[in-house]
Amino acid sequence: MAHSSKIHRERPTKIVATLGPASSTKQMICALFEAGADVFRLNFSHGSHADHRERMRLIREVEQEVGRPIAVLGDLQGPKLRVGTFGKGPIELKEGQNFRLDLDPTPGDGRRVQLPHPEIFAAIETGHDLLLDDGKVRLRIVKNGGDFAETQVISGHVLSDRKGVNVPDVVLPLSPLTPKDRADLVVALDMGVDWLALSFVQRAEDIAEAKALVGNRAAVLAKIEKPSAVRNLLPILELADGVMVARGDLGVEMPPENVPRTQKLIVREARRIGKPVIVATQMLESMITNATPTRAEASDVATAVYDGADAIMLSAESAAGQYPIEAVQMMDRIARHTQQDPTYQTGIDAQHPDLQHTAADAITAAARQVASTIEASAIITYTTSGSTTLRAARERPSVPILCLTSKLETARRLMLSFGVHATHTADVASFSEMVQKAVQIAVRDGLASLGQSVVVTAGVPFGKPGNTNVLRIAVIEEEHDPRQLTLPA
Ligand code: PGA
Ligand code: MN
Repeated sequence: MAHSSKIHRERPTKIVATLGPASSTKQMICALFEAGADVFRLNFSHGSHADHRERMRLIREVEQEVGRPIAVLGDLQGPKLRVGTFGKGPIELKEGQNFRLDLDPTPGDGRRVQLPHPEIFAAIETGHDLLLDDGKVRLRIVKNGGDFAETQVISGHVLSDRKGVNVPDVVLPLSPLTPKDRADLVVALDMGVDWLALSFVQRAEDIAEAKALVGNRAAVLAKIEKPSAVRNLLPILELADGVMVARGDLGVEMPPENVPRTQKLIVREARRIGKPVIVATQMLESMITNATPTRAEASDVATAVYDGADAIMLSAESAAGQYPIEAVQMMDRIARHTQQDPTYQTGIDAQHPDLQHTAADAITAAARQVASTIEASAIITYTTSGSTTLRAARERPSVPILCLTSKLETARRLMLSFGVHATHTADVASFSEMVQKAVQIAVRDGLASLGQSVVVTAGVPFGKPGNTNVLRIAVIEEEHDPRQLTLPA
């Protein structure tokens, strides 16, 4: 496959593209990568295990051919609550009428329907609202009978079989891992996903439960899509490896006017803690059927970039839409143009989080400062676990972060992080060998050229994780031309 020798993207905000029926051939996956997708999402709410395995196989083939690590995010459906069925087709609920929910599997009618989730009846109280079918129907509890509830229709709409139910007012004692999720998790880990996303997380314990199953085989991402998760954001962020602002369900569970500030809160707190955050859902929604987005959508993508999100995501646009490639190209263009606005970096810098009182943070912050002062073309980090590179990404520097790691899994995971150009290399034995290798890779991948300088950080002596204590400026010289030297695989 032909690809340019300049394989660095020059776009710090990463793009996550969901794969689906519209994007399952190798040619399409390759085209999405070339258009700018850094991470592919496999959505376990749709498709068979065979579908996901085949997509994974193709992604890894593309990864080999383009010679760049690609992250794969497996997204588990989670406990999506649903009503039962209706005997005579869809019903029409009218504002003000009463409607009963119960555990009886008998098909429903205009007066009642099954809600097969006893845990909802155990948790809801008079005055709480239930939202059905993505919020089209709002029911207010007027009486909770323990195994049934009488409700009043606050917003009416047609309601049909097995529509989703959201319960925004309470923390339900539900595991975020249903039996289906547990089966999907085993398959996803076996396939080798780099990230595993959990849906409808409500509290930190949910992350702990998943982590106990996942171990270190994948990084765990918490989808923030319930008000209870927003309330428990800090403990969730402590345990999770990353988060997603899952605006589809979040925007149903809370009033739309609360979504923008909640998005900014989640992005800010994730950056403060130093873990990647994805802004997701409806970013270029109209591109499912149109070749160009609305102005409001372009503005929405730009807002996530201005906020300093690590990544922006496409769902149905790339999975099932008519213009998957155009959608990725459009995201790429909007992100690039936004970051060229002089107020972009000012805004990012204004939200600079406080440093931890560690040598690693001191060196990392200094690296950013030095890079800006001497107009270096990249900051270079060497990492095994990824933690040093995550601290560098937290700085949101204006130059790319070239990450060298001997662990392929680390390189892949870090492709979700802001500004990180991850490369997989053989282990190095000393600081001087690392600097040598780093400048060669910087030249090879188009991050620096002759006469430019790079800022290198590392922990010396080598092999002790998290002890970043050295900062060095290296100037690219003739001898660093990768054509002159053998490069690591
Ligand atoms: P979903 O998650 O696409 O799996 O529902 C994202 C969201 O809710 O925004
Ligand atoms: Mn969701």
